[in-house]
Amino acid sequence: MTESGSQLPVSADALVIGAGVVGCSIALQLGRAGLAVAVLDRNRAVGAGSTSASSAVVRFHYSTRTGVIAAWESKFSWERWGDFLGHEDPAGLARYIRMGGLVLESPAFAMDRVTGLFADVGIPFERLTPAQLRDRFPALDTGRYYPPRALADERFWADASGEIGALWTPDGGYIHDPQLATHNLMHAAQAEGARLVLGTAIAAIETSGGRIAGVRTAAGQLISAPIVVNAAGPHSGHVNDLAGVRGEFAISTRPLRQEVHHIAPAAGRPLTGLTHVGDCDLGTYFRPEPGGGLLVGGQEPDCDPMQWLDDPDDYNPAATTAVFEAQATRLARRVRDLPVPPRPSGIAGVYDVSDDWIPVYDRTSLRGYYVAIGTSGNQFKNAPVIGQLMTTIITQCEAGRDHDTDPVSWRAPHTQLDVDLSHYSRLRQPHASSGSVMG
Ligand SMILES: Cc1cc2nc3c(=O)[nH]c(=O)nc-3n(C[C@H](O)[C@H](O)[C@H](O)COP(=O)(O)OP(=O)(O)OC[C@H]3O[C@@H](n4cnc5c(N)ncnc54)[C@H](O)[C@@H]3O)c2cc1C
Repeated sequence: MTESGSQLPVSADALVIGAGVVGCSIALQLGRAGLAVAVLDRNRAVGAGSTSASSAVVRFHYSTRTGVIAAWESKFSWERWGDFLGHEDPAGLARYIRMGGLVLESPAFAMDRVTGLFADVGIPFERLTPAQLRDRFPALDTGRYYPPRALADERFWADASGEIGALWTPDGGYIHDPQLATHNLMHAAQAEGARLVLGTAIAAIETSGGRIAGVRTAAGQLISAPIVVNAAGPHSGHVNDLAGVRGEFAISTRPLRQEVHHIAPAAGRPLTGLTHVGDCDLGTYFRPEPGGGLLVGGQEPDCDPMQWLDDPDDYNPAATTAVFEAQATRLARRVRDLPVPPRPSGIAGVYDVSDDWIPVYDRTSLRGYYVAIGTSGNQFKNAPVIGQLMTTIITQCEAGRDHDTDPVSWRAPHTQLDVDLSHYSRLRQPHASSGSVMG
């Protein structure tokens, strides 16, 4: 699938920095638009950066109409993944496990706003009373515990102060293998003519007369390209520094360490009758895993310290006892008879967090230099549309349109809904959002 460093292309129409799910989606759509694309990644495999740690949950609960449309439109591509790709990957296809999803009532979740957006966009949903929630998901404790507390806080163990209902969406679920999904995108991009170079870091960005000229690898080789896209995930800020554009961003991005834990089923007793749950009441999210276990992650409750990183390469990739105990114990309050393992099991990944937890998909003042960054732990699900959004911005800007003053819009092919892409502008005032991974 890859080309070695010695066979680097000398030029490309468009060069994508980063072969994560975002970069590969962009490569596919730029290729479909007729551009000769090269994708470069310093890792030795596609999707081996933050994408490989993704929980790959597909849900539609975003704070903005654009966020809801992007997630809903993407669902149709995940459902017909092979058709969307248009090329058969010998490695096999990533599978969309449709199981529906719950988000539990909580002051941290803008239920009325989100259901209003669902009604507007046409997403099926149902508000469940506590009794309905108990009836449909007897494995869930419907107690109200808000606000989330640290384990060391004795109020953590207080009895429930009441009962909560939930928002149920019958669509939604998860992608069984996020790295395979990324491989599928890259395979399709290559079938459309894209070139992939792995094991090659970009160390400099070359400009000429206020326009991008290409990139220089860490080994000093120059690849000329009139279009360069920063899809470097948690390294997005560093790449923007190479391009000298960081200062113009009203919305900044920062790497944040995040742990996700696995709860294996007790021998002979798979955890059944559960679904994906956003538990804003206790500050977690969880979903079933193939094999009957559960995967649990956090929703940045105020009581948990945020693990911001100065350097996205300098972090502990292993699950720690402290975070595991907090997340697993919160989960055990919500899921009855949960077999909590004695030792942490899981991984740590890195989010590329923007100020409002909404990504930046945009041009920059350096002509030909574009960004698809700040994915804030919630954009895997949107991978099918990100390439389309970025290709729309890029082709329109390259045709002479100033997206900053005359915003480009995009029509979602399945839902036929229009999206004003200035929503994702680097120059925006922060959107009113959840301020968390919920977006
Ligand atoms: C723990 C965790 C759980 C998540 N759960 C979900 C979820 O349930 N649902 C959801 O929708 N989203 C989720 N996300 C978010 C989602 O996975 C990310 O938004 C998405 O994977 C980001 O993809 P990316 O391509 O932008 O970044 P990455 O996958 O990190 O790719 C960027 C690539 O750029 C390369 N690169 C960086 N700098 C350079 C350079 N100088 N030269 C060459 N290459 C470079 C890196 O090697 C890397 O491969 C989660 C993320 C994490 C970390």
